[in-house]
Amino acid sequence: MEEIMTTDHTKTPLSVPTPYYLLDESAIVANVQIIHRLCEQSGAKALLALKCFATWGVFDAMAPYLHGTTSSSLNEVRLGRETFGKHDDKETHAYSVAYSQDEIDEVLSYADKIIFNSISQLNAFKDKAKAQNIPVGLRLNPKTSNSSFVIADPARPFSRLGEHDKARIEAVLPDITGVMIHNNCENDDFDAFSASLADIEARFGDILAQLEWVSLGGGIHFIAPDYPVDKLAERLKTFSETYGVQVYLEPGEASIHGAGTLVTTVLDTMHNDKPLAVVDASIEAHMLDLLIYREAAPIEAINDEGLRLSPVADSDKSSESTIIYGRSCLAGDIFGEYTLPAALNIGDTIAFGNAAGYTMVKKNWFNGVNMPAIVIRRLDGSIDVQRQFNYDDYKASLS
Ligand SMILES: *Cc1c(COP(=O)(O)O)cnc(C)c1O
Repeated sequence: MEEIMTTDHTKTPLSVPTPYYLLDESAIVANVQIIHRLCEQSGAKALLALKCFATWGVFDAMAPYLHGTTSSSLNEVRLGRETFGKHDDKETHAYSVAYSQDEIDEVLSYADKIIFNSISQLNAFKDKAKAQNIPVGLRLNPKTSNSSFVIADPARPFSRLGEHDKARIEAVLPDITGVMIHNNCENDDFDAFSASLADIEARFGDILAQLEWVSLGGGIHFIAPDYPVDKLAERLKTFSETYGVQVYLEPGEASIHGAGTLVTTVLDTMHNDKPLAVVDASIEAHMLDLLIYREAAPIEAINDEGLRLSPVADSDKSSESTIIYGRSCLAGDIFGEYTLPAALNIGDTIAFGNAAGYTMVKKNWFNGVNMPAIVIRRLDGSIDVQRQFNYDDYKASLS
């Protein structure tokens, strides 16, 4: 542990070599406090979705505000049990698109509830769960969603994510006590959320009324500055009372949105019809979602100068705007294109914003590019270099 030199969260703890992910516990706590208030007002319980964010080094700071974790695999449910789940009052939910025969016993050994993705998985494993008194749920696919990306749309055509046929679901109601519905993706529109929930109620209300709990999944962007959290709380409370169910939320991105940066150094500058810069990290290896969703990273700081810089819109791209590239050999390894206050120089430090969710859980060793360290700014302002990676980690990831 090293003492921090400054309290401004955009500034670089100089003793750590780039690249590194810098997580800000105060910003994380600010997010989970909003979740906590939403839960207090609505009666809902919030479970951190580990698939978005599993950097357990900050879980002790988050745990007071959340009810536990939910998972999408054996490894995640185990991590949830070992971290949040070590506290008696926390819940560890298990879900997977498909469990295998040889892992189900271990999954059940960590789970307080288990949600099966299909009726066939339910039928295959429900007896094992019941033998251990573990409540069983089923994922419901309402065939409608609030997702602007087809690749992330659980209700996409021919989706495998959950059961949709009402008659078939009704037939297994004696086997389940709850359902999970996850059909939002970074949805910051309360009215759209509410309308889609109303649609689910209209079609599945009689089923919901026979259950004890309903998880509404993640993807509700209620941490946006102007989101009507009170209205959402009221909506969830009414929903819960109407059907007599415990509501769960499974926030991933909302828990850590805006609470981390990826800090990099400019290794080279070039010119090819526009100014170019290459930094010591890679979007393919370290911020993969930018590539998948064809988005660009915001900049939070250049050389300790905090400046919130959005990528330029396509229409504003010009021969003056700078493209910042990653160092992998993927031709399109691009962090973004920006109108910068000054030309970049070799050695400049650039912190990319919103780098906590869906980044560390997806990082990989493509090109053998050095993996960013994980650095945590604690609530008291001190800096922990939580984890550094080296050649041995790279080598051990292969054989
Ligand atoms: C991805 C996912 C979440 C978390 O989604 P966020 O958009 O990160 O909030 C929650 N539940 C399920 C079932 C998911 O697949």
